[in-house]
Amino acid sequence: MTRAYNFSAGPAALPEPVLRQVRDEMLEWQGERASVMEVSHRGKAFVECAARAESDLRELMAIPDDYHVLFLQGGATTLSALLALNLAGPDQAVDVVLTGHWGEKALDNIAASVKANVAASGKGDGYTGIPDPSGWQLTPGAAFVHYTPNETIHGVEFHDIPDVGDVPLVADISSNVLSRPMDVSRFGVLYGGAQKNLGPSGLAIAIIRKDLLGRHGRALPPIFELQNQARNDSMFNTPPTFGWYVLGLVLQWLKAQGGAAAMGEVNRRKAENLYAAIDGSGGFYRNNVQAPARSWMNVPFFLPDETREQAFLAEAKAAGLVGLKGHRALGGMRASIYNAMPEAGVQALVDFMGDFARRHG
Ligand code: PMP
Repeated sequence: MTRAYNFSAGPAALPEPVLRQVRDEMLEWQGERASVMEVSHRGKAFVECAARAESDLRELMAIPDDYHVLFLQGGATTLSALLALNLAGPDQAVDVVLTGHWGEKALDNIAASVKANVAASGKGDGYTGIPDPSGWQLTPGAAFVHYTPNETIHGVEFHDIPDVGDVPLVADISSNVLSRPMDVSRFGVLYGGAQKNLGPSGLAIAIIRKDLLGRHGRALPPIFELQNQARNDSMFNTPPTFGWYVLGLVLQWLKAQGGAAAMGEVNRRKAENLYAAIDGSGGFYRNNVQAPARSWMNVPFFLPDETREQAFLAEAKAAGLVGLKGHRALGGMRASIYNAMPEAGVQALVDFMGDFARRHG
């Protein structure tokens, strides 16, 4: 058996050269005569590896110096809860913009500790677009506005950064980080799990404007205080060292590809190719997202009826295409085409879809 093209939404495909390097270094890493998983996070070799990953991330995303970059456990979900506790004062509201499933989950975690206000929601339209920003009900003096630039399940992506005035914008970039250039200075916080575009699960990153930390005025357990991680180079407790190391290799691979701008061009072409196949299928395949909000990273699509789904998945797998089953919240199919998915993989999927439609149409 050979490796398939993997369209999984996350954990997701990693660049093959990265996996090969991990394999080659598995038993002995950097002259340590031990695996990277077996050495202290405070030892010289790991500290250097960690610092290099941070500086590569800063370079690739052009992160200004007045932002912390944190490498944490707990995934995007834990961070959504921690950001509310760390950024909002006890009497401050947080505005949340909902464009899909993950925004709803973030809302649940934010609303558990602070007053949360749904400033706009695309739920009424089945999360098929972005509510017109001119109608957003923003709260003056809110601690932050939270949104999800790319909704991994619904396949809804913002192609522009919304203007929310002086209130810090907090974005969950789990599924579109480094998929194209992004102006970090427009945000208070960018955060996400690593397991889609950056590395394995178990690691999350947070890019936080420095002045936003330490102002919340509530007593938090020290481990929930993000300022403590910021002051300790994300080593207030043991960081997810293996994930951090793999992320570093992914970033070196990304630099070799030409960085975010080059990835953006490739990702645009991949998405255009796949949406054209769906829209050109004579109605056999359907994607319900309004064209200006269609995601470049996650492409949900439906077959004419559910009875053909099992055949689609089985035949796709036999053709070397895996991970296409849609999320249970939405059903149907979903192709996640993150940075590590080559254009040839998308073309193989497009060819398979055309063939399947001819045989089952
Ligand atoms: N936000 C987004 C946009 C996601 O895609 C996901 C995972 N699919 C999450 C949050 C949840 O992330 P985690 O499992 O790392 O908590």
